[in-house]
Amino acid sequence: MKQYEYKIGIVGFGGMGNWHRETIGTIDRIQVAGVFDIDEARMSYAKECKLNTYNSLEDMLADESIDLVLVSTPNHVHKSIAIQAMRAGKHVICEKPVTMNSNDLSEMMMVAEETGRFLTVHQNRRWDEDFLTMKEVFESKKLGEIYRIESRVHGSRGIPGDWRQEKEYGGGMVLDWGVHLLDQILMLMGDTKLKKVYATITNITNQVVDDGFTAHLEFENGPQAIVEVGTSNFISLPRWYMLGQNGTAIIEDWNMDGRMVRAVGKSETDIVPVRTAAGITKTMAPRRDDTISKEKLPLVKSDVRDFYHNVINVLDGKEESKINLPEVMRVMRLMEAIFASARDRNIIDFE
Ligand code: NAD
Repeated sequence: MKQYEYKIGIVGFGGMGNWHRETIGTIDRIQVAGVFDIDEARMSYAKECKLNTYNSLEDMLADESIDLVLVSTPNHVHKSIAIQAMRAGKHVICEKPVTMNSNDLSEMMMVAEETGRFLTVHQNRRWDEDFLTMKEVFESKKLGEIYRIESRVHGSRGIPGDWRQEKEYGGGMVLDWGVHLLDQILMLMGDTKLKKVYATITNITNQVVDDGFTAHLEFENGPQAIVEVGTSNFISLPRWYMLGQNGTAIIEDWNMDGRMVRAVGKSETDIVPVRTAAGITKTMAPRRDDTISKEKLPLVKSDVRDFYHNVINVLDGKEESKINLPEVMRVMRLMEAIFASARDRNIIDFE
């Protein structure tokens, strides 16, 4: 029996809209019905790709063969396009950040509820292998009780020279990269409540929107996380650094270079002090090799196309969405707490 083929309309055919086209092209049971973009050059490119194009959003939404709309425009119009699409009877996948604040997201959630349409958000970095590997290390308890996690992305080219530099388009790095890293940390910590948030933002290459931030998060019963995005970092700190009472894990970079070092329970009685210029230290002396074990990380493989496989299964009525809106709302509220903390130099009580 031939299975139903879902048709998706792409609104906003820039870098990410095109990524979705290419990705959808490799997935069974979903195909691109056509594209709408306000930029003529992108519409011409869509035609070159042999895609159907619509003259307006209204034209696309009037196409009854379309089940789903992907919103991959700049952030400021996600809400209005998503709402218009749901009211026209379409399910919606919205690019991240779903919108620019929690009030807007509440409105979108109300329309999803009212229209009975499926609304989800492309939090694709839940499928990042570095994140999944660190989640595996965390859950395996191999490092003992985790007391600190540090998650960073560092670049040195400032903010890309497009709408991401403008406030009214929803620019800035909290909304751009922060939304991924904060989502990952909250996913990793699961049901543990986030109690306190303290954050600073940077304006090194851009005075209008944040070009980076550092968020200090304190979870219930003590675990802490640092989440950081930098765009003027000519030397990058590790992508992940996780500290437990019995060991440490690190992922250095996008190539997944990393390792784990764990204490093996042998006590050290004969610590050889390290000589520094101004004296000696036993506290900071390296461990003897027979008291630790140096291990490879349990690398987790993933396929980012599972985002779409899940969407298809949700529409078939066979699976729950892997990205649900209360989770997305929690991240949105966290981004607002980061802005408020940075503005007022305050520690925010979160949950
Ligand atoms: P982009 O500038 O390359 O593309 C945006 C496109 O939207 C442009 O072609 C523009 O002409 C079009 N557009 C603007 N307003 C429109 C409107 N009202 N109707 C129709 N088209 C409109 O930007 P991008 O990098 O592709 O980012 C698009 C979205 O994807 C953003 O929300 C961004 O945060 C997100 N994104 C997500 C990821 C990810 O990994 N999930 C990566 C990059 C970008």
